[in-house]
Amino acid sequence: PPPTKRKGNPRLLFMGMRRCGKSSVQKVVFQKLPPADTLYLETTNRIESASMQSFMHFESAEIPTQLPVLSPDFDHSTIFSNIGAVIWIIDSQDEYLTSISELLRVAVFLAEHYPRTNFEVFIHKTDGLSEEYKYDTFREVRQRVQDELSDYGYGDRSVSYYQTSIFDHSIFEAMSKVIMKLLPQLPAMETLLTKLCSTCRIQKAYLFDTVSKIYIATDASPTFLKDYEVCSDYVDVIVDIKQLYGWRDKSPVDNRDEPQHAADVSFVGESVVTFDRSGDTYIYAREISDSLSLLCLMGQGSGADKKVLIDYNVDILHDALLQVFKV
Ligand code: GDP
Repeated sequence: PPPTKRKGNPRLLFMGMRRCGKSSVQKVVFQKLPPADTLYLETTNRIESASMQSFMHFESAEIPTQLPVLSPDFDHSTIFSNIGAVIWIIDSQDEYLTSISELLRVAVFLAEHYPRTNFEVFIHKTDGLSEEYKYDTFREVRQRVQDELSDYGYGDRSVSYYQTSIFDHSIFEAMSKVIMKLLPQLPAMETLLTKLCSTCRIQKAYLFDTVSKIYIATDASPTFLKDYEVCSDYVDVIVDIKQLYGWRDKSPVDNRDEPQHAADVSFVGESVVTFDRSGDTYIYAREISDSLSLLCLMGQGSGADKKVLIDYNVDILHDALLQVFKV
């Protein structure tokens, strides 16, 4: 069945042609399936859903292409009425004109019936494509969709485009951006992180959902996939250190069954500052709660000596986050 409505949870619906990668994306992002294992996924003929309980309860579903969801006798409200974002996946390694015309039907339908649903386009399977081809494809898809939507009178409808692949970090970065838009706490979190960055001279700060490696907020400066990659790898380091040493005293009777948010953010973990050679930057990593991690990038010459200052400011950020999620 399609996922049930639960307030505040980001709910996503994947659509696209057969074998464009809908199941793969769901399984890699929300079920941690190794990307190579998606080769053997069977084609699905029913609505398949996935969910992940971490800091948030992410819910997603995919609609098999052959379901006539737009036909008048199909009860589309059961499918679309609670959805935060529809993600249309285009296989960029395949002929994609058919996919674009289907995409347009759905985009127009949504604009007419569910104008508050975000519409996102993943130009997918970009691995193995040359940089030039990747760029041209991206531009062509965006141009075509934009032009056609204007012809239909929906030129002002905002559609976002992402280049994605399950074989690198790009799918996680794109999913982060899609999900962030659905969080009512986003503006508050963004303001807090932007403030942290300016106070401590941090280049970029991400608040990560530790398990999924989706970031649920970042500061207002521009985002680059490379920054995400570096930080995302250090989320693993946090998890490893925690498993090895345990960053806080925890009684064996864990309060796992308690509702996530409030109980979960009531402590702050240790912090680490380390130098990342690949990015030539310092990384500040700190566990904010059982399921949230803060990762910051700093330029050279602004390293370990600032740890105390950042720790202090992150304590303040932590308390402010508590307030944000109390609502
Ligand atoms: P669905 O029918 O839309 O659910 O498509 P699947 O998820 O079953 O994927 C179809 C095929 O595309 C599988 O063999 C996947 O391994 C492959 N695939 C999915 N994502 C990617 C990607 O990012 N890059 C490449 N090269 N192949 C992908």
